[in-house]
Amino acid sequence: MLCPVEGSELQHAKLRGLEVDRCPDCDGEYLDHDQLTELEDQVFDHDIPKGTIHFGDHQVEHACPHCGKQMLRFRYRGWPLEIERCPDEEGYWLDKGEEKHIRDYMKERKSRLARSSSAESAFDKWRHGGSGGFFQKIKNIFK
Ligand SMILES: [Zn+2]
Ligand SMILES: [Zn+2]
Repeated sequence: MLCPVEGSELQHAKLRGLEVDRCPDCDGEYLDHDQLTELEDQVFDHDIPKGTIHFGDHQVEHACPHCGKQMLRFRYRGWPLEIERCPDEEGYWLDKGEEKHIRDYMKERKSRLARSSSAESAFDKWRHGGSGGFFQKIKNIFK
């Protein structure tokens, strides 16, 4: 597979126990869909809703290392971090250091959810007239 940034041959590499493909020149990393999920789950338990992942998709010139289609750049889960993905969602391209940002955002999201779940569910109750259980309310918020 080739790096979407400058076309170097990607090499197998370890990322926190995962087998990913890394560019030897720009240190970008290609993770398939399950690997990104696994990376997040190491920080943030998968039973808790993490929120929508794709915000503000726009096409970029980079070709997907896996299928060669033009990749989409998007705001990762609405955070101020833009990463790129395969248009078919086979995988994600992380520039150098972005996996650390993802882990930081997951940590932040985890603590924020714990901190504010009571306040948010009160807001949701007001918005939806109080129907649904606690987890349904959380789901509504992060849809
Ligand atoms: Zn590269
Ligand atoms: Zn692809």
